[in-house]
Amino acid sequence: MTDAQRAAPVTPDVLTVPRKLPESDKINLVGLTRDGLRAALINAGTPEKQVRMRLGQIWQWIYHWGVRDFASMTNLGKDYRSFLADRFEITLPDVVNRQVSADGTRKYLVRIAGGHEVETVYIPEENRGTLCVSSQVGCTLTCSFCHTGTQKLVRNLTAGEIVGQIMLVRDDLGEWPEPGAPKDETRLVSNVVLMGMGEPLYNFENVRDAMKIAMDGEGLTLSRRRITLSTSGVVPEIARAAEEIGCLLAVSFHATSDEVRDRLVPINKKWNIETLLGALRSYPKLSNSERITFEYVMLKGVNDSDEDARRLVKLIQGIPAKINLIPFNEWPGAPYERSSWARIESFAEIIFQAGYASPIRKPRGEDIMAACGQLKSATERARKSRAEIAEETGVRNAPGSI
Ligand code: SAH
Ligand code: SF4
Repeated sequence: MTDAQRAAPVTPDVLTVPRKLPESDKINLVGLTRDGLRAALINAGTPEKQVRMRLGQIWQWIYHWGVRDFASMTNLGKDYRSFLADRFEITLPDVVNRQVSADGTRKYLVRIAGGHEVETVYIPEENRGTLCVSSQVGCTLTCSFCHTGTQKLVRNLTAGEIVGQIMLVRDDLGEWPEPGAPKDETRLVSNVVLMGMGEPLYNFENVRDAMKIAMDGEGLTLSRRRITLSTSGVVPEIARAAEEIGCLLAVSFHATSDEVRDRLVPINKKWNIETLLGALRSYPKLSNSERITFEYVMLKGVNDSDEDARRLVKLIQGIPAKINLIPFNEWPGAPYERSSWARIESFAEIIFQAGYASPIRKPRGEDIMAACGQLKSATERARKSRAEIAEETGVRNAPGSI
């Protein structure tokens, strides 16, 4: 941490929202795919010949206009609006706390069903705004440099809780268009990265459904090229991510030998560097404009030598790639230190000379512990059973639930 960063004041902008009343037994429409919404409308008794039109209208109200109550859906008949309101709801997770960093980064503490908490981070930049979304409460994996990795997995987020993070941040930024106004091109949330808490490929179906909703052209309309899924290396799910989600891929690589990667990213013991690289080589849709991002955390004296940089370049030969160097973000009790800037720059230069883009990620929101790998909620409970999760979320037989 530099002195300037250490001295940065924490803006006393903390928003606290009262807890919501007990959850209702209405079906929440947020997070249902188009097929799911169609089935819900039909099951509730919407005549089949009307369903196509109703679905399109409701979808637009929810995801384009950000409307939360059926009474505002003015192109639906009054009776149908109250029919919907009796059966369904449009609800997002609660924001229980918001902190704004001196650099403009916003960290939201989000409470989901069951009282668990995850964090969502909004990072404004000059020409874009990136939202870092969580996919699990905690993580099953135990990467030794990651704060989330010290927390047990509590449960997977539902698709609604994942896409809900995008929607609640749009609420906070006032980004929904006014009903009746022309489509607005200003995007405060222009990019989404699945780099918050959790391993997205261990919650595949919910992440996929949430991203499908985010990409839908009639709603949030985020381009698939503006969504990046980061994985620690769940090899069997990598090709599936390309086929079923089609977003960009980032891989937490972090080491150039199995011996070191085993220690940093223990999933390496299951799928080692060679196996992982094999999966990346055959990642469909590879082209120069859709490179794979190799994330590489810079840990002093562990993985940051010039020798490592040269090995890295050799290993990834032939894969259209960019290497994102992440200066280690410290957290209380972390067993590592950040490499010096001189070391990081020397490492970056070797990679750059080999023909790869090697941006050094600028740490953001460090004063509010919002930087990469610093997220950890207070929820320390052990993992939940299927039945308990179904009870909490109201989602029966949720695909991808653990
Ligand atoms: N579970 C996924 C995505 C979440 S972590 C994954 O591991 O890829 C997002 C990125 O932050 C990963 O590259 C992760 O390795 C990195 N990271 C974790 N802890 C960090 C820390 N303390 N400092 C810097 N980067 C960290
Ligand atoms: Fe989980 Fe990713 Fe952290 Fe590893 S780096 S413990 S996979 S969140």
